[in-house]
Amino acid sequence: MGLYLHFPFCRKKCAYCDFNSVPAPDTGSRSRYLRALGAEIRAAEAGLVDTVYCGGGTPTVHSAEDLAGILGEVKGRFALSQDAEITVEANPGTVDRESLAALRAAGFNRLSLGVQSFHDCLLVGVGRIHSAEESREAVTAARAAGFTNLSLDLILGLPGEKEEWRDSVAQAIRLSPEHVSLYPLSVEEGTLLAERVAADTVVLPEDDEVERRWRRAARMLEEDGYRRYEISNFARPGFQCRHNRRYWERREYLGLGCGAHSFLGKRRFWNTVRWDEYAERVLSGEIPLAGEEHLSAEEERGEAMILGLRLAGGVSRREFAACYGIDPEEAFPSAVERLQDAGLLRRRRNRLVLTAKGRRLANLAFAAFLPES
Ligand code: SF4
Repeated sequence: MGLYLHFPFCRKKCAYCDFNSVPAPDTGSRSRYLRALGAEIRAAEAGLVDTVYCGGGTPTVHSAEDLAGILGEVKGRFALSQDAEITVEANPGTVDRESLAALRAAGFNRLSLGVQSFHDCLLVGVGRIHSAEESREAVTAARAAGFTNLSLDLILGLPGEKEEWRDSVAQAIRLSPEHVSLYPLSVEEGTLLAERVAADTVVLPEDDEVERRWRRAARMLEEDGYRRYEISNFARPGFQCRHNRRYWERREYLGLGCGAHSFLGKRRFWNTVRWDEYAERVLSGEIPLAGEEHLSAEEERGEAMILGLRLAGGVSRREFAACYGIDPEEAFPSAVERLQDAGLLRRRRNRLVLTAKGRRLANLAFAAFLPES
């Protein structure tokens, strides 16, 4: 299975962020959270793990030594496959040569850096704590530390963005990471950015324009040899994120830490979201469960379509039938027909894949596989 570990603290909340993250509390509270996470790891049912993903929040607000300690707990509890992919997310403003070398030495072998843009004015506008120069330095330091599997996150359509996106993508390509995640900015309810948009105090590029920039950025990456393997993700051959592929392929994962979700057998369950409540519950010997669900056969099939269609390879009809006992075209006859007629979905040999238009209107395409459609 895959193992996800959640680290909820950041130096500061970014304006657009709706992840389960909060500004880091004092050192004592941070240590308490790590103690709880260690305890949850030790209490988990042991098993064979081939991907570990430390996400957040910003795991690297904790010291490299603390993160190495958590990875040590993982190794003490689970059998890690020899070639396990072990990712740590980092904000470029929270790492340096020393900390990256220590993380690499501890066994982390994939680094995902939240660069977002190589333009300081755009970074400042959304409250990122780092500069473009710090991102470049973090990449250099990661290479010096021996990270040979490096991913950069970029966001297009930041407030006030004009032509800077092109230079950001070009700079990312020059740094030659093995993997790039390319997202259009999304305004999520409850964020500072949503408030600013409602108050008309921020200027966002038009959606169509962001879409156009995104397509051109994707082309720049593809011309440089990156392959798009998921709606927002590009990789050099051999460097797709194995952990994230698990989610899209509906394979098992265990999530530990506040708000973390798990999928084991046919059961989905998740932990309490607030870090302080989570720590309190775990440290007093409770299981920090907040909810669970068992999907019906129909929900499982719908989910398999929605997740599988995110991948460039789409959904294999043969594999789908082997898993769910029915061909996807028979399971969703009207949805498949409607989407094909609308030019959003097509058959490619034995697979169903989204077309370019389908990828652009992915949410519309996915809605067709929800049970109430
Ligand atoms: S650093 Fe990442 S997780 Fe933290 S607030 Fe910013 S976007 Fe959210």
